[in-house]
Amino acid sequence: MQVTKTVKETRDLIKNWKREGKTIGLVPTMGFLHEGHASLIKRCREENDIVVVSDFVNPTQFGPTEDLEAYPRDFKRDSELCESLGADVIFHPEPKDMYHDPHAFVSIDTLSDTLCGKTRPIHFKGVCTVVSKLFNIVTPDRAYFGQKDAQQLAIIRKMVQDLNFDIQIVGCPIIREEDGLAKSSRNTYLSEEERKAALCLSRAVKAGQNMICKGSKAEEVLTKMREIIEAEPLAKIDYVSMVDALDMQSVEIVEKDVLVAMAVYIGKTRLIDNFSYEV
Ligand code: AMP
Repeated sequence: MQVTKTVKETRDLIKNWKREGKTIGLVPTMGFLHEGHASLIKRCREENDIVVVSDFVNPTQFGPTEDLEAYPRDFKRDSELCESLGADVIFHPEPKDMYHDPHAFVSIDTLSDTLCGKTRPIHFKGVCTVVSKLFNIVTPDRAYFGQKDAQQLAIIRKMVQDLNFDIQIVGCPIIREEDGLAKSSRNTYLSEEERKAALCLSRAVKAGQNMICKGSKAEEVLTKMREIIEAEPLAKIDYVSMVDALDMQSVEIVEKDVLVAMAVYIGKTRLIDNFSYEV
């Protein structure tokens, strides 16, 4: 496995592989890898000749009061994991090599204004910008994203369609801890007590899934989910919403595919979880 730091060395490697007719898969990450990331890398390994993992804490997707500095990092452990999973390249650039101020941004407005976009107004603009840059640097045939960040996945699909990126976007299921908590690099912020409290998210997901399968109305589902979370003293709801799976706008009646998504503060840590329901 090769570790690349610059855009040029990454491009040179990829060009050679492309000349040989090899297919390229990309897994964009912010590092501090866990089994959620590993599931994307494994799928990418199965479906492509070359696997590129990007490991970059992207500053443009963090708001001024968010956890950019505190975000956990362990590149040595990440590169060992990528190597053990058979990745060919781990691209680990410095922010100064990715961004030269002032620089262009990419944004997909309507889908980015709801759910997490309300609390994190610049977040998806930063995500679309860095993912576009990675797509242009790596020129993958396929790129792998987790359903864990369902709004991000919907936005990336729309971006690829709108901007004619010739890339197949592969969505991968949420990987959870045994007790149900969705794996996240941010789980490391939780104290023992908060870690227990955080289970209210996956409990709400399960209850919501059961109710929607039995034909309950959107408001009944959301009320039940909110009750479960509000019963946990350490939890504070940012949002619990049901939206159209494609345009991310609120729905009241479940007649098309929907996404039921939530963001909840456990102490100071903001966690997200969701489930999709196909009609
Ligand atoms: P991040 O490093 O948090 O930016 O995540 C990189 C990619 O891994 C994104 O596509 C995430 O959706 C995906 N991912 C993160 N956590 C999980 C998880 N628990 N299950 C599946 N995919 C995940």
